[in-house]
Amino acid sequence: MATFPLEIVTPDRKFFSGEVESVIVRGIDGDLAVLKDRAPLVTPLKICKVRIMIDGKERVAALCNGYIKVSKEGTTIISDAAEWPDEIDVKRAKEAKERAEKRLNERPSGIDTKRAELALRRALNRLDVAEMK
Ligand code: ATP
Repeated sequence: MATFPLEIVTPDRKFFSGEVESVIVRGIDGDLAVLKDRAPLVTPLKICKVRIMIDGKERVAALCNGYIKVSKEGTTIISDAAEWPDEIDVKRAKEAKERAEKRLNERPSGIDTKRAELALRRALNRLDVAEMK
């Protein structure tokens, strides 16, 4: 199958760089699948999984917002955070989930609901991806 170059970068590191057959992410308008020669675009990403197909095998990682840029030269994803399943600290993600759920259930005065909801989504996404080892 035809391939194209993909780069995924975060503030800390170059998370991925290589030739891929396809990449699927969740943009603000829904799931987006990129194949070679897709029309160019730039769109924001949600807290989501990235699914990369290489030699017919799928690799999945957790992403945390950011942007995807598709151009003739290749595809670039810039995300606040990215982790492969075996990099995810499950205990930490469970604790983050519990913290966020507690805040949302108890709603102490001054709670930033949106922030707690986003923390919960990040934790649930990581727990999902951690199971894909
Ligand atoms: P926490 O409350 O546990 O810090 P968070 O959702 O606020 O979680 P982020 O701000 O999304 O964390 O990420 C900050 C950094 O920590 C990023 O580099 C991210 O890859 C890393 N990180 C966050 N949670 C985990 C986890 N459970 N396992 C591995 N790395 C994580």
